Amino acid sequence: MKVLVAVKRVVDYNVKVRVKSDNTGIELTNVKMSMNPFDEIAVEEAIRLKEANKVSEIIIVSIGPKQSQETIRTALAMGADRGILIETESEIQPLSVAKLLKEVCDQEKPELVILGKQAIDDDANQTGQMLSALLNWSQGTFASKLEIEEDKLLVTREIDGGLETLKLTMPSIITTDLRLNEPRYASLPNIMKAKKKPIEEKKPEDFGIDISPRLTTLKVIEPPKREAGVMLESIPQLVDKLKNEAKVI
Ligand code: AMP
Repeated sequence: MKVLVAVKRVVDYNVKVRVKSDNTGIELTNVKMSMNPFDEIAVEEAIRLKEANKVSEIIIVSIGPKQSQETIRTALAMGADRGILIETESEIQPLSVAKLLKEVCDQEKPELVILGKQAIDDDANQTGQMLSALLNWSQGTFASKLEIEEDKLLVTREIDGGLETLKLTMPSIITTDLRLNEPRYASLPNIMKAKKKPIEEKKPEDFGIDISPRLTTLKVIEPPKREAGVMLESIPQLVDKLKNEAKVI
């Protein structure tokens, strides 16, 4: 069984992002970029399935600038088998990503596609669901546990009231939640080995997909500064402030 994992190169989660002075976006010059954290979890899960002999091949796909190769290499160093880079310098939105991933699925015919539940740069939480709709495949979003039982997938999801387990008929789309696993670090020998693993390079035009944005960003601004809080002496004082100052009760 083949598994496809989609990984996005994003601003590292430790970076405090700064808004550009012209308010058109965030500053990316000299900023550390890394694999989207939820995608690391997706790669780790695919590798665990391979180690359990449930999966024969793991293919990593990334869509973005040339440097996304490094993100693919990281996944290969963790243990994936080969990569596909769909190179574009243009901004790429979830619907275009989903359309491109659909084309890759049509060619590669995986039984399972694992994505992160959301990319921490756009916070869209859309790509997996859109891909599932385009392919008409089953989907299990926000997975916190994944098991393969014969030809079915058991996906545990965290929902408001507790846990829900879905039984999916493959091929399926899975999106990962934080508690699914703890991704491994690549060892030095595996980083060296990953340099020899193949990465196929493509462009969106090779698939005949128009990636022009459907959404326009009007303005990006810093959130307002939080004002200092006040310590109150008593509950009646709090109630008084909520009633007469904040006017919320
Ligand atoms: P989003 O819908 O943008 O929040 O992204 C959800 C997931 O879709 C990510 O965690 C990735 O697994 C995948 N994804 C989004 N954008 C890309 C991209 N440019 N290249 C590869 N995978 C992506």
